[in-house]
Amino acid sequence: MRKKLIAANWKMYKTPSEALTFVEAFLPLVAGHTRDEIVLFPSITSLATVINRVRGTNVAAGAQSMHWANEGAYTGHTSPVMLTTLGATHVLIGHSENRQYDNETDERINLKVKAAISHGLIPLLCIGEQLDERESGKTEDVLASQLAGALAGFPKEHADKLVIAYEPVWAIGTGLTATPEIAEETHVIVRNHMAQHLGDVANDIRILYGGSVKPENSKSLLEQPNIDGALVGGASLKPDSFAAIAQY
Ligand code: PGA
Repeated sequence: MRKKLIAANWKMYKTPSEALTFVEAFLPLVAGHTRDEIVLFPSITSLATVINRVRGTNVAAGAQSMHWANEGAYTGHTSPVMLTTLGATHVLIGHSENRQYDNETDERINLKVKAAISHGLIPLLCIGEQLDERESGKTEDVLASQLAGALAGFPKEHADKLVIAYEPVWAIGTGLTATPEIAEETHVIVRNHMAQHLGDVANDIRILYGGSVKPENSKSLLEQPNIDGALVGGASLKPDSFAAIAQY
């Protein structure tokens, strides 16, 4: 059985005090909720605050991105060692906004996924197609190539720790959600490609859906057999709405 993972991607929102206010309100709403794993991804300036407040609870915290090197002359970046020292347990890698605005390439994503695994961080590898790619029937090719690029040389013995977040770019922040049927169908395609790369362990790998997930649609998405969780942006910024999503 794959335990579902419900993740909040706060993007570039919330100061440390706003993040703390969220956590104080959120923890009681999900107290005792152990059916699913719940992870918050605050901005880097709020990460320590959030980690210190959720320590010992049923909620974990991770970073929205990282560099692959342990240390070095990389101005503006954060290393896996820095994240684990802080107590982070998860990291988002290859979010479409980083691919689009920050020149994130499959090669860099590959180095980051492998670095996360070697430091004991759970990577949430984000993949997804653009609208024109879906409309021209290229979805499977795009996902296959993103997976092949990200997973080259991935250590198979750690495959069960990998998490994939399938986020159709046309559904992110647009209010357009893939229907549960489209999402499920695409998750099956992703799982089949994972099996080609990593073998039977693909059945243990969680594949999350992301893109305009909200309380009104989380249940129908999360009921699908191959949707193993959600990566939530806009609707994760308010404690009650993110708690409702987690309690689909
Ligand atoms: P959204 O963002 O829920 O606001 O569409 C999801 C994401 O970008 O991870």
